[in-house]
Amino acid sequence: MVIESGFNEQEERVVSATLVTQDSETEETLRPHRLADYIGQQKAKENLAVFIDAAKGRGESLDHCLLYGPPGLGKTTLAGIIAKEMNVNIRITSGPAIEKPGDLAAIITSLQPGDVLFIDEIHRLSRTVEEILYPAMEDYAVDIIIGKGPSARSIRLDLPRFTLIGATTRAGQISAPLRDRFGVMLRLELYTTDELAEIADRSARILNIPIDPHGALEIAKRSRGTPRIVNRLLRRVRDFAEVKGEGVITAQIADMALKALDIDVLGLDRIDRLMLTSIIKNFGGGPVGLETLAATIGEEAITLEDVYEPYLLQLGFLARTPRGRVTTPKACEHLGLPASGQMTL
Ligand code: ADP
Repeated sequence: MVIESGFNEQEERVVSATLVTQDSETEETLRPHRLADYIGQQKAKENLAVFIDAAKGRGESLDHCLLYGPPGLGKTTLAGIIAKEMNVNIRITSGPAIEKPGDLAAIITSLQPGDVLFIDEIHRLSRTVEEILYPAMEDYAVDIIIGKGPSARSIRLDLPRFTLIGATTRAGQISAPLRDRFGVMLRLELYTTDELAEIADRSARILNIPIDPHGALEIAKRSRGTPRIVNRLLRRVRDFAEVKGEGVITAQIADMALKALDIDVLGLDRIDRLMLTSIIKNFGGGPVGLETLAATIGEEAITLEDVYEPYLLQLGFLARTPRGRVTTPKACEHLGLPASGQMTL
């Protein structure tokens, strides 16, 4: 079999928050299935528990939900949990996978009462496809055009009551008419180190990987607030523990493995450092426009914004200003660069 090496840099990154091929085998095993097993996101979880209980109490389907936040934070997982907690089936699709209005009509007309329809990357639905969703979400109906030209007529099909769960990394890109039709909007936040350590511990138990609490903490500290990265680093560090250690993931083994993978103490990799260094060295610390920055380091602007920036912003290494991105003295300090010409924030 010929395997094409069509991966770009982003997909190969060890700390990439998006799903890469090597994740898929363990992703399903590691997904929590119940709200009680879903670590962190306290606020979203508490709200959801109330909405789920209320809907179940009334014997109704759950309101349509929009989940938003950076990749790898657990949006797909949460959609699965909602379906499980509501005791209904889930159909999973994504914005780019639905090309024509007919594709979406086929999916929604096959739903059973109460079913969850999960649309990942919902901001990437085309306008014509999106228009099918409006009556479907609001009136549980779909308008189908039969025939062509002057003899064309539209018939309305009733749909069972279902729950649409949309996930997006960019809530700002969702059109207002679509956004307004979601009854529940939940924003997922980057996880704290303690929560990530708990996730590392839980995943290690499921995968039968011996790990001590310091090892879990070391992995957590370098996972950029993202559970998907915790799980990926865990598997990589396990290899080092088996080959270079005694099989147990300790802080020392984790540190050695992550250094070898070029991931620094805060979880920054080569590209994060390149991005920051480029702003400092080429643009005097900024402000620099996102497109210019993207071109300089050879990444897509959208990738920088969705995948790299949230964590750098959270660390306080980067700031968004109306005139572009600026680095902070804290970033210079971390990189060991002089803070000359820096804007103090
Ligand atoms: P997203 O859809 O936001 O990109 P996923 O739901 O696919 O993210 O989550 C990625 C992985 O991270 C899942 O396989 C799951 O094991 C893990 N994960 C996400 N959120 C949690 C959580 N709150 N607790 C435990 N594991 C989690």
